[in-house]
Amino acid sequence: MAGRLRTWLTGEGGETPDLAARLRAAEAANEAKTRFLASVAHEIRSPLNAIYGYAQLIERGEGQDPIAAARTIRRSAEHLAHLVEGLLDMAQVEGGALKLEREAIRFPEFLAQVIAMLELQAEAKGLALVLETPPSLPEFVHADPKRLRQVLINLIANAIKFTDAGAVTLRIEYRNQLATFSVIDTGIGIAPEDAERIFAPFERVAGPAAGRPGVGLGLAITQALVHMMGGDIRLESAPGAGSTFTVKLMLSQPLSPPADPAPEPGAITGYLGRERWVVVIDDDPAHLAMVRALLEPLGFQVRTASDGESALAITAQVQPDLVLCDVALEAENGWDIAERLRRRHGAAMRIVMLSGEAPRADAPQATFIAKPFDFTALLAVIGEELGLEWMRAPGEAPAARGPRGPRADAPLPLPPALAAQAAQQGAEIERLVRIGHVRGLEAAIDALAALGAEATPLADAMRESLDRFDLPALAALARRVQSDAA
Ligand code: ADP
Repeated sequence: MAGRLRTWLTGEGGETPDLAARLRAAEAANEAKTRFLASVAHEIRSPLNAIYGYAQLIERGEGQDPIAAARTIRRSAEHLAHLVEGLLDMAQVEGGALKLEREAIRFPEFLAQVIAMLELQAEAKGLALVLETPPSLPEFVHADPKRLRQVLINLIANAIKFTDAGAVTLRIEYRNQLATFSVIDTGIGIAPEDAERIFAPFERVAGPAAGRPGVGLGLAITQALVHMMGGDIRLESAPGAGSTFTVKLMLSQPLSPPADPAPEPGAITGYLGRERWVVVIDDDPAHLAMVRALLEPLGFQVRTASDGESALAITAQVQPDLVLCDVALEAENGWDIAERLRRRHGAAMRIVMLSGEAPRADAPQATFIAKPFDFTALLAVIGEELGLEWMRAPGEAPAARGPRGPRADAPLPLPPALAAQAAQQGAEIERLVRIGHVRGLEAAIDALAALGAEATPLADAMRESLDRFDLPALAALARRVQSDAA
């Protein structure tokens, strides 16, 4: 095929150097992609095997400690989720769609947490993991904590991976708002001829580095993130002499220390008011059992259905308050089931779609949760949909504004000249939140921002919620725009 393509591109025997070079580049990119897919498949296989194997052992009840097995299964699932996240990050970074957050973070605590996350990994290899900070480190700096954490974790995890003895050090210097992070290891080192290419996607070094897990995406994502944050990343290394990756970033200090965040809410133990009925539709019995095991102890009546027909049969007998419906059922489309339910029961019945994919544009009115979800996020959505007041474990303060409510300083109200138009956009945004139509939301928020400079902070707050996929917070902002105009 490549041969035929080459003949077609270059014509009968006549080699155009420009085209030939471009063809070689395209072929190289194609080969890199094939290698990449093979590595991804390899990366997916080992955690998947662990999940599969341990699940079967539990099923057969073969002398396996179920708690230990569940822990391995959970960790493997987390690993898979991280891999998917890495791939999505890569796609976002490559497509230029990633947006940075900016918040005041407690700098020393943040660094200590990063180290704590990797301590076990270092310990397992008998390596010392050292955090070196100057005495004058500021208490707060402005940063995107998720992305900065990702950069540091990538570099430190690599340092641990490619070091067999000695230590890994994270050294911080901070002067005139410029933070310098050095990740120093005593590992296998990197030859000068590899120093540049390892920052490209899918590039890995043969020799002593080979055989260690990885897909060759970490440094590419890290470099792209550092550049997005306006920073710079450098490498100093020699084979056998360890490596030092240095990241320089401008991290400004807030003028005054930010207000303390609300305390973490206690665990949800139930809800106030009458009993609520929930129907869960999924063709995966494990998923049905999991959602049932989560919701029943909290006082929900749960009915499960594996397809649209049985869901309709159940809802003919009981009128559920909420339906949780998987989008990608083996034999049917979840959105179609949602539409049939909606036609029969009207808007009083809330529908939440669960899916690994983005919702389609013509999806019927329903909230959307991306899989894999964590229980807290699912409960937050259920609470929002059903207007529930949660009961929480004693001893901890209940959240004043829900687990992830809108920011207290949300920039409202708007001047009267803008308020009416903004309210219209607010209604549209609320509608789009209900169907979870992300691209539609982006456009609607852009339209709100375009109303005038006064609307910019509000649009920014909305974008921030959307970036976190915090749809309840976005809906709350959209509702406030409308009520302020009324
Ligand atoms: P991965 O770790 O998944 O292979 P990365 O993009 O993070 O992908 O790294 C690319 C390659 O760079 C690695 O495969 C390894 O060969 C080399 N490398 C990265 N960090 C180090 C390090 N600290 N010491 C030695 N080699 C490294």
